[in-house]
Amino acid sequence: MSCALQWKLQRLDGAKRSHRSPSLILGRSYHEAVANALIALRQGKVVETDELAEWFEAAWAREIKNDGPPIRWTAKATAENQHELGLRMVDAWSDQGLPLFADAEIVAVELPFTVPLMNSHGEVLEHPLTGYVDAVIRRGGKTIVLDHKTASQSYSETEIELNLQAAAYAYAARYLGYGEPGFEFHVMSKAKKPKLTVVPAPRTDDDFDRLFMIARDAERLIEAGIFLPKPPDWMCAGCAYGRACRKAYAGKAA
Ligand code: SF4
Repeated sequence: MSCALQWKLQRLDGAKRSHRSPSLILGRSYHEAVANALIALRQGKVVETDELAEWFEAAWAREIKNDGPPIRWTAKATAENQHELGLRMVDAWSDQGLPLFADAEIVAVELPFTVPLMNSHGEVLEHPLTGYVDAVIRRGGKTIVLDHKTASQSYSETEIELNLQAAAYAYAARYLGYGEPGFEFHVMSKAKKPKLTVVPAPRTDDDFDRLFMIARDAERLIEAGIFLPKPPDWMCAGCAYGRACRKAYAGKAA
């Protein structure tokens, strides 16, 4: 999460979200369809394009019916055009994603983890690292951790190099006994003609130490009760905690 204040409002204060974004609904539905496909492949089943569409439809219907906060559709991202986009995305995954697993062994899908976070000197943080790895595969004698993404624009080299999620997931997989895994983002573009791009993002001990240091600093800030609202520019506009954020500072001059 990019904004520490948003993290506090959500995790510590239990603030209610004002809305859900169209990209969240689309991303979750796409993600579930692809995860179901990998689970089926792992069980040795053949995955048909129609099935991917059905999995997407089921996830989409569940998200729409979900009695959580309302979805904030916009003129650009309507329920109709996002639904159509999602179907095009799973169709593209069927064409471009499925062949990537033809010669791969799918070792794990939606792998939960809670592991101690340790640096190369053996220091351990108080709080464990928790999350879900989208998939672990073996291809060409190498273990690779995968993360599925949907994106409107391609990732820059710096974003790939510094991405902490890649470090966290590769670290967790290594801790769980998957050797020295590589890491790949499988990025589906949210375009008229969606395209799947495989972005390798290998991680080393230096990246794991960087992850440790950032997590350690975050732990210290949490202990000190410091939650700086420092989001990237675009983030406040769509933030579901905007109301709670304004209230967090209201009437507090010091
Ligand atoms: S509105 Fe902006 S500063 Fe406030 S919690 Fe959300 S992202 Fe952070």
